[in-house]
Amino acid sequence: MLVDPTVHKLIREFEIPASLPFGEYKVPVMYTASYRDGQWLEGTLGPYHSLSLDPAAKCLHYAVEAFEGMKAFGRGPDRPVIFRPDSNWQRLNRSLARIAAPEVPREMFFEAISAITSVAASAIPTGPGQSLYLRPFVISTDSNLGGIGLSREYLFCVIACPADVYQTTPMRLLIERQFVRAVPGGTGSVKIGGNYAAAILSNKRAAERGLTTSLWLDAGSGQWVEELSAMNFFVAINGTLHTPALTDTILPGITRDSIIQLAQNFGIEVFERAIGIDEILDGVRSGAATEAFACGTAAAILPIGRLEETDGSFHEFSDTSDPIWTRLRSELRNVQEGRVSDPFGWIYEVPLLTSGQ
Ligand SMILES: *Cc1c(COP(=O)(O)O)cnc(C)c1O
Repeated sequence: MLVDPTVHKLIREFEIPASLPFGEYKVPVMYTASYRDGQWLEGTLGPYHSLSLDPAAKCLHYAVEAFEGMKAFGRGPDRPVIFRPDSNWQRLNRSLARIAAPEVPREMFFEAISAITSVAASAIPTGPGQSLYLRPFVISTDSNLGGIGLSREYLFCVIACPADVYQTTPMRLLIERQFVRAVPGGTGSVKIGGNYAAAILSNKRAAERGLTTSLWLDAGSGQWVEELSAMNFFVAINGTLHTPALTDTILPGITRDSIIQLAQNFGIEVFERAIGIDEILDGVRSGAATEAFACGTAAAILPIGRLEETDGSFHEFSDTSDPIWTRLRSELRNVQEGRVSDPFGWIYEVPLLTSGQ
């Protein structure tokens, strides 16, 4: 790896902004590596910069792109850790395989995320729940409008944003009964940009009604709950937790997986199964469904307060005194921020970049 000598100075001069709207402020360094002639070339840690792309680059026309989202936590000066990076690396390669793009070797992925986290260690905010959000991504830079042929050139990048905790005001979801996010045999279970583009209009309609985001149902029957546009879904029914079983239309969230393990560790039963939207609405009405929440790396865990139909009718969860989601959220933070031991092997200690490397 090449390290541009200016990166240390850039980080020293970077001040963590007092307010951190998600994804807005990037640390002033980034990692890049190009793929050409059938192989990945040596990567560079350098200053954050705009990319220069041929206007015919395939990422711009055919969404040949895959990405990840993961978090680094500062544990005192110079001891940053990353949460479950192996899972993100494996998922990135599953996404890349689905779009017939070359996989990123483990050494290169870990070199990239370790280098940026190590150099930017002083830019990791360390308040409760704060972190450095890492965004690795791969784009096709191949300049050929010839539709769906294989690309010959790609770029792997990692950028990073200091991140604050999300507001935990309960989310109000639009039950999306017109559009679908993913179809069997499609790309719903991989993390690629095209899935997000397809969800934006629905989320805009939700926002216009004063709602937070959309809740997606299955494309075939419209009966089964799948997930949110960037978070997985859980509902608590009579003291047990339920989440849609993974299919090829649901993104296998790493936070989802962590929550299942943490809940089981607490002695809470977790069921991964098909969950009908009617079962949930009936459950809210009868009081059997006591809470619902969504989870993902960026926001961790957020409670869901309301499920609303397009005609304006809605179901609201009543307040519970000791909700499961708050216990799960504090335990997740305890592991991430090092207050409890890590029985799951989730924590990766970042090797520090020494000068001359
Ligand atoms: C990223 C993402 C999630 C959450 O995954 P995590 O690994 O927990 O961050 C859930 N759904 C979709 C569609 C996503 O893109």
